[in-house]
Amino acid sequence: MSRYFSAKYDALTPYTPGEQPRDRQFVKLNTNENPYPPSKKARAYAAQAAERLHLYSDIGCTSLTAKLADLYGVPEECILFTNGSDEALNFAFMAFCDADHPAVFPDITYGFYPVFAALNGVPYAEIPLAEDFSVRVEDYIGANKTIFLANPNAPTGIALPLDDIERIVRSNPDSVVVIDEAYVDFGAQSAVSLIGKYDNLIVTQTFSKSRSLAGGRLGMAIGSASLIRDLNTVKFSTNPYNVNTLTQAAGLGALEDQDYFLSNCAQIQENRAYLTDTLRELGFTVLNSSANFVFAKHPDLDGGELYRQLKDRGVLIRHFTLDRIRDFNRITVGTRDQLDVLIHHIKDILGGAYENR
Ligand code: PMP
Repeated sequence: MSRYFSAKYDALTPYTPGEQPRDRQFVKLNTNENPYPPSKKARAYAAQAAERLHLYSDIGCTSLTAKLADLYGVPEECILFTNGSDEALNFAFMAFCDADHPAVFPDITYGFYPVFAALNGVPYAEIPLAEDFSVRVEDYIGANKTIFLANPNAPTGIALPLDDIERIVRSNPDSVVVIDEAYVDFGAQSAVSLIGKYDNLIVTQTFSKSRSLAGGRLGMAIGSASLIRDLNTVKFSTNPYNVNTLTQAAGLGALEDQDYFLSNCAQIQENRAYLTDTLRELGFTVLNSSANFVFAKHPDLDGGELYRQLKDRGVLIRHFTLDRIRDFNRITVGTRDQLDVLIHHIKDILGGAYENR
């Protein structure tokens, strides 16, 4: 830290993204990217849009907004596009949290929430998940704080049914509830259907996972028109041109290619079932995932050890050192070929583990 760095960030520990090695080819199953490329239409639209790069991007994301409004059946004024959904989440911390409106979220969830809270000087509390890593809905009923819930949750992959989400939203009429649906397209129920019924609900989604555009950085917030207006106030006070021209074009192509999107999601779900079944056959405990990753542990293999041994063999998965989950690893659902490489190495490593007993 330089001596010029503002004292208000003294205690800030930045978010640690998953490794993105550039020096070596890995089978990369550590950052929940989609293993399949973006749709052809997304790529073609982005290439055409390059001709317009001498001009600033469309601040209202007009075409994208109209298309999504049509697809989701929500009014255009209920949608805001952002630079990845991380930006939408940060905007929500800025807009809806302060000393009078502290944030709450589970103790095991997306690691960026406490960082956004700290960055914005927002007090927060972490609510422990149940023993089985599910969200205890009762803990959020009438909490009267700004609630952030990832659904499905990360890194567990466990989803709450829509009824439970609705109970939480309904019981907190004086607080904003943010449902982070980064992984919803892989098998959970979206709360977008509740927009219009509740004026305190924000849903965030991303093109990074189910639409294969992680590198494009495109996300969105969907909520009541008044909450979206507040998020726009924050956006226009930070970065009005937050979504670049290439990304807007790619996003539109992705939304227009609904067949590709649906078959991509179905393929990931099929691969997830294969990965889950195979790991269970090998003795792993695998939580029931509704996302594009699984969370798994093995009784004979330390979580960190499995991560390190796989890395030595050229396969990257994600290990977290938080006490409650240090035995586990989060494994992104890759292509069938990638999963077969992973499983081959796990069998080999387990062979060694059994020999060493
Ligand atoms: N929410 C959750 C739960 C995530 O895991 C991620 C991905 N790291 C995000 C939001 C943000 O993704 P993006 O900014 O790429 O949309």
